[in-house]
Amino acid sequence: MSDCIFCKIANGEIPSRTIYEDDLFRVILDLGPAARGHALILPKEHYGNIYELPEDKTARAFTLAKRMAERMTDKLGCDGFNIVQNNGETAGQTVFHFHIHLIPRYSNDGQKIGWNPGKPSEEELDETARILGED
Ligand code: 5GP
Ligand code: ZN
Repeated sequence: MSDCIFCKIANGEIPSRTIYEDDLFRVILDLGPAARGHALILPKEHYGNIYELPEDKTARAFTLAKRMAERMTDKLGCDGFNIVQNNGETAGQTVFHFHIHLIPRYSNDGQKIGWNPGKPSEEELDETARILGED
């Protein structure tokens, strides 16, 4: 994708603060961090979202997320860690090149990453479970 900023960053055409790199991925610091150390895992090949990412690369990406979480927690001494991955504008995706957010959390960081809990009826929960549980 010639006009994709994350393709250019992942392939080193645009400089970034890289904290890890291998054959498939580059991990960079986010320029608009939720907290100190907020980083992004970018595949070097272009995939728009998780639906487009092949399963073998998905496995590698999330294994890398776990390893980065361990390493970043060790080095930063953070108190918690969010792993966030947005797909589609409705879900908050703004850059349409698959990425995983690695967000170290600190007890005083003032951030709120979450949702407003709903109150579905027992029937709604049963119906949703039935639909999702079907082949
Ligand atoms: P999304 O909302 O798509 O899940 O996340 C996009 C993220 O990319 C945002 O957190 C934003 O701060 C970050 N971002 C956007 N453009 C750039 C850039 O050019 N460089 C870096 N390092 N981060 C970027
Ligand atoms: Zn791209």
